[in-house]
Amino acid sequence: MTQVSAYDVAVIGAGPAGMTAALYAARADLKTVLLERLSAGGQLATTDVIENYPGFPTGVGGLDVSFAMLEQAQRFGAEFQLAEVNRLDLAGEMKQVATSEGIITAPCVILATGTRPRLLGVPGEKSLRGRGVSYCAVCDGAFYRGKEVAVVGGGDSAVEEAVYLTRFASKVHLLVRRDQLRATPVVQAKILNHPQVEIHWNTVVEEISGETKVEALSLLNRVTGEKSQLAVGGIFIYVGLLPNNESFIGQVELDEYGYVVADAEMQTNVPGVLVAGDLRAKNLRQVATAVGDGAIAGVTAQHYLDSLKR
Ligand code: NAP
Repeated sequence: MTQVSAYDVAVIGAGPAGMTAALYAARADLKTVLLERLSAGGQLATTDVIENYPGFPTGVGGLDVSFAMLEQAQRFGAEFQLAEVNRLDLAGEMKQVATSEGIITAPCVILATGTRPRLLGVPGEKSLRGRGVSYCAVCDGAFYRGKEVAVVGGGDSAVEEAVYLTRFASKVHLLVRRDQLRATPVVQAKILNHPQVEIHWNTVVEEISGETKVEALSLLNRVTGEKSQLAVGGIFIYVGLLPNNESFIGQVELDEYGYVVADAEMQTNVPGVLVAGDLRAKNLRQVATAVGDGAIAGVTAQHYLDSLKR
């Protein structure tokens, strides 16, 4: 028989936003479950060092701060559960969360499922994924010691990860589709003139090729029309993010890009359904803003549950 467990608050996703929301909700004595399909930390856990999270003047390891945030939420009584959320039913006063481990009911649900990497969408990307095609430099960078690798993208992620990869790779080719980077100036400064990095401006990848693992990239210069081959052992793709909204699509208001729309209290258009972190429609996606969203969502959950008693 399917197990049904009742909580006051169900937090979906244990990145910095979800863990902070769970901390605040549990600390307010709400019976809180924190659901995560992989491991605590989300994208934060796969980040080598966070340089702009206040309180750590020399930076802090993504994995270290992830574990610390989880420990802190659990210390106040949040229950951490590893489970895949298959379906959410957000209508009505009591919401239902169907997971791989059973059903959870709660009057308040906090959506904190974050984002995932956008795929490049070129031939060879899917077939060579895990065999030279990667979306996580911290996870896979050490495999490329002494080799040449490519990084695709011009945002903060691509630049930060390209610099990280210079620890291992003999050379990093940064493939940028325009003639400028999208990354913020302080991040750009780390890569412009880096001795181990060659930036290929106006360049897109048309194909990733290799027999059993990545061997070469087919490149196109969008300005000159010139085509070329670049021999690399690996390609790291950082071309933006997509919101993880599949389990509740059609149930809450989303913006044109699929991010959840909420007010300043993190309330969505559905009573009792809150959002926090990168999943929320907003301008600045950072650990610091995720934590801020999570704190507000945790307090709003408390106010919402109080309002149900009146
Ligand atoms: P992003 O800011 O959306 O940048 C995506 C990059 O990929 C852009 O340079 C874009 O080019 C390029 N791109 C998109 N589609 C492409 C394609 N098909 N082929 C080649 N290039 C393509 O994504 P992100 O870097 O993952 O960052 C996501 C968010 O996290 C941002 O808000 C960022 O500020 C934040 N973040 C912050 C830090 C930090 O503060 N240190 C670190 C990591 C991430 P165009 O510029 O031409 O559109």
